[in-house]
Amino acid sequence: MNRGVFDSRTHTDLPKANLKKVLGDALEERDKNLGDFKIKGHPIRWMDLRGRFSQPHILLVGDAAGADPLMGEGIGMALAYGRVAGKAIKTAFQQRDFRFNTYKRQVMWDPVLLTVWVRVLLAGLSYRVKSPALVRWGWRFVGWVLRWTPWSRPDYVPVRPIRKTS
Ligand SMILES: Cc1cc2nc3c(=O)[nH]c(=O)nc-3n(C[C@H](O)[C@H](O)[C@H](O)COP(=O)(O)OP(=O)(O)OC[C@H]3O[C@@H](n4cnc5c(N)ncnc54)[C@H](O)[C@@H]3O)c2cc1C
Repeated sequence: MNRGVFDSRTHTDLPKANLKKVLGDALEERDKNLGDFKIKGHPIRWMDLRGRFSQPHILLVGDAAGADPLMGEGIGMALAYGRVAGKAIKTAFQQRDFRFNTYKRQVMWDPVLLTVWVRVLLAGLSYRVKSPALVRWGWRFVGWVLRWTPWSRPDYVPVRPIRKTS
């Protein structure tokens, strides 16, 4: 199992969280010592709406094109990028035109990928929140949504709720 933490308050002038301490405290609750483990850091490259997604003979997909900056999700998006890129490559071969001029538009209007740029806009707003209480409430709200979605749309999120046995 991997355990990870991040500080989402990227645009505030508040001091950043001490992530090693936060992670260490969380591990201690599980009788684990942070010193016994190797710590790794990973950047998440988010989508920039002004970014360039292609140039002649080159397409960016997945993280290279940009993931969701709100929740750090990119797996579903990487698959969607693959679908859009596959289609663009097929069309390029059919038309013998490898400029990929319309690729960015296809990315932006793909039903899955358009949720990324909506999340880019939402992240721009939510990362400006300075109040710790509001941030806490925001994450609590996300928790409710995550529990509500599989219940209300089991076809969309096929996850069964965990039932406590005792
Ligand atoms: C800590 C962390 C937690 C995450 N949690 C989630 C999550 O819970 N849910 C979610 O949806 N997303 C999550 N993500 C994001 C998600 O992992 C990525 O968005 C997704 O894996 C991107 O897929 P990709 O195929 O674009 O890139 P990658 O999965 O990075 O694949 C790129 C591959 O290319 C290989 N490669 C690189 N250079 C070369 C080269 N020159 N030649 C050949 N191969 C090369 C790499 O080794 C790698 O295997 C998380 C990311 C991180 C860092």
